[in-house]
Amino acid sequence: MARLLTAFLLLVNSLTAFELGVRGVGISARSSPRTPLPQLVATPAKPAAKPAFDPAAFDKVVMKTYGRFSLVVSHGQGCYLFDDKGKKYLDCAAGIATCCLGHADERLIKAVTEQMREVNHVSNLYYIPQQGELAQRLVDSSCADRAFFCNSGAEANEAAIKLARRHAITKLGAKRPVIITALNSFHGRTLATITATGQAKYQKNFGYGGKMVEGFEYVPYNDVAALKKMVAKINGGFFSRLFRRGRKVAAIMMEPLQGEGGITPATTEFYRAARELCDATGALLMADEVQTGMGRTGEFWGYMKHGIEVDVFTTAKALGGGVPIGAMCCKESANVFGPGDHASTFGGNPLACAAGNAVMKAFEEDNVLANVNARGEQLRAGLRALVATYPGVIKEVRGWGLIVGCELEEACGFAAADVVAKLMENGMLTVPAGPRVVRFVPPLVISEAEVNEAIDKFGAALKILSAK
Ligand code: PLP
Repeated sequence: MARLLTAFLLLVNSLTAFELGVRGVGISARSSPRTPLPQLVATPAKPAAKPAFDPAAFDKVVMKTYGRFSLVVSHGQGCYLFDDKGKKYLDCAAGIATCCLGHADERLIKAVTEQMREVNHVSNLYYIPQQGELAQRLVDSSCADRAFFCNSGAEANEAAIKLARRHAITKLGAKRPVIITALNSFHGRTLATITATGQAKYQKNFGYGGKMVEGFEYVPYNDVAALKKMVAKINGGFFSRLFRRGRKVAAIMMEPLQGEGGITPATTEFYRAARELCDATGALLMADEVQTGMGRTGEFWGYMKHGIEVDVFTTAKALGGGVPIGAMCCKESANVFGPGDHASTFGGNPLACAAGNAVMKAFEEDNVLANVNARGEQLRAGLRALVATYPGVIKEVRGWGLIVGCELEEACGFAAADVVAKLMENGMLTVPAGPRVVRFVPPLVISEAEVNEAIDKFGAALKILSAK
């Protein structure tokens, strides 16, 4: 009898283990992909200890394309990151303006986890409902009618560059389409986008006989006269057109506010002039919203700050809240791509789009734009209040919403990188934007108390550096 009872208990036990095992991995012969998913368990504040990280081993195998800070992030929660030694950092870098919902946002975790369980990638040979949903959200939030999905900002700009060329060749009769961009801009690291980038340092030693990709011209940012002159020079009169063999302005492409170039907003006058020139010539006005888009400026899209519609805009960074995704969005009038004209294997896959949709939904739930405007005002006011405390240190505080730059005086004795390093030492992350500008691009959900903490920490760093 006792043996019978033991055997029965063993059987019950093994069945329970089987059930648990099946649920644990989420695969079951009985469960269809549409079976309700198990309740997600909240991410633990600190994952189990990992073997010590070895930077030397990393540097041996990873290409040194970055000058890295000596920081190993272990995990994040909200607007804070924690390093492998348990030190806490207020994150005002947000993965370079990317982690708009902060870290470990439950809604993003849930959306990505659930999508991963259903299907994460199928290719664009088939319909992807999540992609359609995200395209609809992009269209509803902007002046665009359509979206093309890719994986990064550079790719989104590549798509825009190709679209502009196709538009100029097929609709304007151009043989040599020219895209005008601004000096000091930043548009990415592919060959065409470093050429679009109006900064020689990114192009150095990547030329072919000293030449980059053909068909780009540059003007100083916010210089209306130079822009008009450039358009006239490219399009010219009859003889000019004859001798220039089909050169035509295809697009004017610019950031609504230059990010990497030092947090410099475009003037509305400049944007309006660009719009008028495009209207007069048939060229496309294209906004690079990779850094300024997705609410960063306090408007959903940076071009809205100027009250001027664009024909094309690009987005990436915050679109997936840290999950890689990019998009090029355009008006129907600029929609010159057909099947086979452009593509991306990963672009807009179910996983990335689930992330994008979760981010967009969270924006609505949290009224993120209102927070960006309130916290941006608070941050700029707090930083400006430091100007009087540290005379000769801060030249200017500028920016929109939660993309804020603090420019240091040339003669203050230290550079933006020194401030960034001191802040890191004191538990706060920021990013330089050029040699003299400290950039604040925190998660868009940052709280009032966290902004106060950022201002206090920045003041403390200036105090130490200016005392040297
Ligand atoms: N465009 C702008 C305005 C950017 O700020 C960046 C990146 O910083 C890019 C394009 C390139 O984006 P990605 O690094 O995702 O290719």
